[in-house]
Amino acid sequence: CGITGYIGYREAYPIVINGLKRLEYRGYDSAGIMMYDGEKMHLSKTKGKVSDLEIITNKEEIRKSGRIGIGHTRWATHGVPNDTNSHPHFSESGNLVIVHNGIIENYDTIKKELITRGYKFKSDTDTEVLVNLIEEVKKNEVCKLGKAVQIALTQVIGAYAIAVFDKTKPNELVVARLGSPIAIGVGKENKEFFVASDASPFIEYTKDAIYLEDGELAIIKKDKGIKVRKIDDDKLVDANIQELQL
Ligand code: GLU
Repeated sequence: CGITGYIGYREAYPIVINGLKRLEYRGYDSAGIMMYDGEKMHLSKTKGKVSDLEIITNKEEIRKSGRIGIGHTRWATHGVPNDTNSHPHFSESGNLVIVHNGIIENYDTIKKELITRGYKFKSDTDTEVLVNLIEEVKKNEVCKLGKAVQIALTQVIGAYAIAVFDKTKPNELVVARLGSPIAIGVGKENKEFFVASDASPFIEYTKDAIYLEDGELAIIKKDKGIKVRKIDDDKLVDANIQELQL
């Protein structure tokens, strides 16, 4: 199971796909990507290997679409390995999309609550519950994505590394971790950022990396920079940029 992501000025597809290949050692049963082309989100996911995902995306416009993308390799915990349960997962409105490694233990209670509020679910995953919880919080609190993710995470029990994208705010990615790793690669002058379960997917592009600590959330804004906060007490944390050694 692994996560990759890119936001910047290069074509995101090869960075996200090649990144997933470097994370293959972590083990997985399915793979998927979402590419945003400035207007639409393009989703492709499948049970099987990253090479299977490459084959199905080979002729599609998804390959050339976009400078923003997220990718995932899944190790199924909730819901059998199949195309539908593979990540990324969209929220009900179709505006939010998530990749997640880990487990949301109280997903069933949250899912029942969301169903009473009119949410419908396509997959059997705990992850689709989380992305809809974020959407519901965002709607109720009328807040930005980062805040909504933060509030939602205080309501879940479990372990996670997540990356979330909101197509209504397409210059940012929100990532967070508890129990599963997240590394952020920082490009020159904040013009591009990389996200991954470890630094191997982006080491050829940048040597500057931030490793999130457990219980931290980062709001990554293209051309602006990164803000890291503690999920539970909202304190800003000094993002410690480390130089990667080859
Ligand atoms: N719990 C999630 C699922 O079953 C994520 C699994 C993973 O870590 O890949 O879809």
